[in-house]
Amino acid sequence: MTDIRNVVIIGSGCAGHTAALYCARANLKPLVIEGHEPGGQLSITTLVENFPGFPDGIQGPELIDNMRKQAARFGAEYRTGHLDKADLSRRPFTLTIGKDTIQTETLIIASGASARWLGLPNEQALIGRGVSSCATCDGFFFSGKEIVVIGGGDSAMEEATFLTRFASKVTLIHRRSEFRASKIMLDRARSNPKIAFLTDTVVDDVLDVSKKEVTALKLRNLKTGESWEFPTSAMFLGIGHIPNAKMFEGQLEADADGYLITHNNVLTKVEGAFACGDVQDRRYRQAITAAGSGCMAALEVEKFLEEHGH
Ligand code: NAP
Repeated sequence: MTDIRNVVIIGSGCAGHTAALYCARANLKPLVIEGHEPGGQLSITTLVENFPGFPDGIQGPELIDNMRKQAARFGAEYRTGHLDKADLSRRPFTLTIGKDTIQTETLIIASGASARWLGLPNEQALIGRGVSSCATCDGFFFSGKEIVVIGGGDSAMEEATFLTRFASKVTLIHRRSEFRASKIMLDRARSNPKIAFLTDTVVDDVLDVSKKEVTALKLRNLKTGESWEFPTSAMFLGIGHIPNAKMFEGQLEADADGYLITHNNVLTKVEGAFACGDVQDRRYRQAITAAGSGCMAALEVEKFLEEHGH
């Protein structure tokens, strides 16, 4: 007979590590399944200036690494792997991770959200050849080149600003003329002499698959209908994220965009299953709010196990 865990945490971003820390300190011996993108979005960001406690800011990868170490120090167990299937129809829940099956009394879903792609005909073929969703991972390869960032939110502003460290020019292309980005991030990008803005413009495709590298974008102005080819060496996407919740389809409630629906912050409709962080938060999506909801989920698990005699 396999052991039944008290709690399994799916995901190792801010929410997952914080849930792991609290569960470990409650002596619940949590098991964290790290997922496809260990460390989540913080692991691919640069300077984090809005996480309280770090007056000079802290690099995202360092922050997330610290969180992992802190949880591990109290006994959280980490395991590489990805949740393929979950049976939440009865407790203990049954989780399938690769070839393994794990049973657990409670589940914390902290699987976060992954980068959104534009869905262009040539986009996937050019990923890693000039198409990227990670400025910090790939920016270095475009030193001295002219490149493009797509999006009008904080991610796009952050990427564009960061990429000016390498690129000779960054053109930020946005489909509207109003920006979703916060004023401070927008102003920072606007005042950077290496960043140019192209608004009311969409990308219809990226070229050139036959050359195995990005050479240009096919652009279209939404107001005038004009189309043209825009030479560039890279296209970085900063157009938001998609929640990683597909494996719970049909078992947990999700909204039209796939975000898990929770009540009382982290409770799902299945008793014993809790969701925290970006997989259930389409409104705030901050490192600190993800950490906060990870803490809530852990406290709920503690309460739930106690009430169920564990
Ligand atoms: P976001 O705020 O949802 O912005 C996504 C942007 O991409 C929007 O401008 C959107 O255009 C555009 N977009 C989406 N789909 C598109 C498509 N198919 N084609 C063209 N454009 C498309 O996402 P985000 O910038 O990733 O930010 C998410 C959250 O993280 C926010 O709460 C943000 O404040 C936070 N964040 C904070 C920081 C920081 O403080 N350091 C850094 C990054 C992110 P529309 O505006 O037209 O919809």
